[in-house]
Amino acid sequence: MCRRFFVDRPVVGECARLEGSEAEHLIRVLRAKVDDEVVLFDGSGAEFPARVVTIGRSHAELRVLERSWVDRELSPPLVLAVALPKGDRQRWLVEKAVELGVAQLVPLVTKRGVAQPVDRALDRLRRAVVEASKQCGRNRLMEISSPQTLAECFAAAPLGCQRWLAHPCASAQPLRELLQQVTHDPLLAAVGPEGGFTDDEIAAAGPECQLVTLGPRILRIETVALAVASGVALLRQAVA
Ligand code: SAM
Repeated sequence: MCRRFFVDRPVVGECARLEGSEAEHLIRVLRAKVDDEVVLFDGSGAEFPARVVTIGRSHAELRVLERSWVDRELSPPLVLAVALPKGDRQRWLVEKAVELGVAQLVPLVTKRGVAQPVDRALDRLRRAVVEASKQCGRNRLMEISSPQTLAECFAAAPLGCQRWLAHPCASAQPLRELLQQVTHDPLLAAVGPEGGFTDDEIAAAGPECQLVTLGPRILRIETVALAVASGVALLRQAVA
């Protein structure tokens, strides 16, 4: 059972308070009692074993017992820029990207995109990031940034960042070859919408961008994103 709880402000000192859905989870789902021990995290990279001190109707107070820095991140970071799929597939993609250690998800605004990202949907996805982080033990939250075009996203990538663009064409390099050439630099990988990237979008991504293919079959957006993330995660796993 998941006994990790997210505190949405920095945990400082000995006292912490859970409210809202986190308190609901502790009080109504886990039916925690005074003196029970749980683990808190605040997205800073640390986790905090803590003991329940008081339980109210909709909040709980806890005593922080310890602060430990537990790194479960990929290093260097992987950023996925994805034209989000429709409906439940968005949430599934976010959940698995968190589990695989993706540092940032950039929702792409594309010419042929069917699910253009709106604020309310992005807020729901940010809540899914917290849920997945509770479950998988990450102490940093995957950032879901504001929507960007492919050109904006590639232009904002740091110097030295490897840039991949998934595109099923003959001139693209196979993923297995690119994985063998992964450097110790940050990596940005972009995945297009159901209708694919337009030629203009690909041109605007810039000459440093490497086209990558995952083979002759056309895969769904989330399959491509997670296949790339899985390959990179295997190479970049933090040592426990
Ligand atoms: N007809 C579209 C095309 O030719 O680009 C297919 C779009 S596919 C459903 C959605 C996105 O997944 C594509 O824009 C591309 O980024 C990625 N994709 C799907 N299959 C791929 C493959 N075999 N290799 C590389 N990328 C792929």
